[in-house]
Amino acid sequence: MQTFPVHYSHGLGILSVLISMFASYAAFSLADRMRSSDTPAQRRGWLLGGSCALGMGIWSMHYLGMQSLRIPVQIDYYIPTVILSLLLAIAASAVVLTVVGAERLGWGEMIAGGLLMGTGVAAMNYVGMAAMRSTAVPHYNPVLVLSSFFVAVIASTVALWMGFAVRNRETHGEFMRIVAAMVMGLGVAVTHYTTMRAITFVSGGDGFSTAWTIHVGILGEATVAVATGFILLISLATAALEKQRFRSLHETHRQLEESQRQLLLTERKLRDANEQLSELSIRDALTGLYNRRHFDAVLDTEWRRSRRASSSIALLMVDVDCFKMLNDTYGHQRGDDCLRDIARVIEAQPRRSHDIAARYGGEEFAVLLPGAELPGALKVAESIRQAVRELNLENTGSFAGKITVSIGVCCRSPLMAESFEFLMREADKALYRAKELGRDRVEIAGPVPVSA
Ligand code: GH3
Ligand code: MG
Ligand code: MG
Repeated sequence: MQTFPVHYSHGLGILSVLISMFASYAAFSLADRMRSSDTPAQRRGWLLGGSCALGMGIWSMHYLGMQSLRIPVQIDYYIPTVILSLLLAIAASAVVLTVVGAERLGWGEMIAGGLLMGTGVAAMNYVGMAAMRSTAVPHYNPVLVLSSFFVAVIASTVALWMGFAVRNRETHGEFMRIVAAMVMGLGVAVTHYTTMRAITFVSGGDGFSTAWTIHVGILGEATVAVATGFILLISLATAALEKQRFRSLHETHRQLEESQRQLLLTERKLRDANEQLSELSIRDALTGLYNRRHFDAVLDTEWRRSRRASSSIALLMVDVDCFKMLNDTYGHQRGDDCLRDIARVIEAQPRRSHDIAARYGGEEFAVLLPGAELPGALKVAESIRQAVRELNLENTGSFAGKITVSIGVCCRSPLMAESFEFLMREADKALYRAKELGRDRVEIAGPVPVSA
């Protein structure tokens, strides 16, 4: 019986370590994808793809390592056991990805993960050895076998801890991921070469069956080809998916911006419509002056303000004379036109900012002059009366032969107990007097205001 000296080809050995690191890097990238998956199905997909990539990396690392082993006998591998070793490597990788891809990780879970992964990788190595068919027979040193498991578990735990620690790191993320992948790759390699130290090859095999076997050289190259091919494929798939994801994100963002723009537009239209509506609700449709409801509200407010400030306030009630006759003689349409003309005249009177005019009834208008004294109010009233006369709107049924107006004026400093209706009543009385006294005139409500 002869013990074979064990030598390694350094080039292949280094290549085997590099492949293991490359696979680890791909696995860590996939763990990140896995975490950002939208659905559980996607997550499972990434887990499967990542486990295969890393598993094939570990697996090919082992057989390339075996190819780098230089012993002067022929070595073949029994294919079914080789496949079993691949499945073991994939299972160990699934543990890696589950641990590294987790949102949170306690020490217990990390150690359990290290134990599973370490034993998985070491077992994969021994199963790989069991697939060997050669005249050289492997002899195992039980102490070294045990210690190889121990080393595998320690290396795996450290690699897992690093892999988990670098996940989603914003700063130096890529660099740290490369470092973690190198540590993991080294861990796998250390496990393999520790396993190999537990084995001595002795001569003594009496030949072996070559059924379902493959030569070590071919297997080494095949595993490298399969593993790198798969890792490349999965990396390409990741990149393509990422691109698609980015595109759909971009599209969603664009749609969001568009709906935001539409929303702003609708909001502005709604605001405009609301403003128009509230403006319409306070306007008289025929003349465009304020309506009675709005006038009453303003009158109430201004009345209270005048009372607080102890200032005077004046109200003019303007009524068209013999308007019924105009309607009867010239028709309703003409009556409407006339009302519009009178409204323009009233509106055109020079007024202060608080002054307000309204169509108060059918052919009746009201003008409020907050802060006005009687002389000023009379001046405005007289100028309205005059301006309407000067319109020269024919009304043959009227005593004057044309459209005229009568105006009742009330100017007061509001007293505490009085409401604005008082002002209204007094102005109406004055208007009634103007009608009685022959129309086309301005009458003042008595008594004469305190401040006047
Ligand atoms: P007085 O000099 O005493 O004020 O006589 P008057 O004819 O003006 O008063 P009266 O109250 O008898 O008639 C008012 C008329 O105003 C009756 C109504 O048909 C008319 N009138 C009310 N609103 C409108 C309107 O919107 N358009 C038109 N064309 N006529 C209206
Ligand atoms: Mg009237
Ligand atoms: Mg009238």
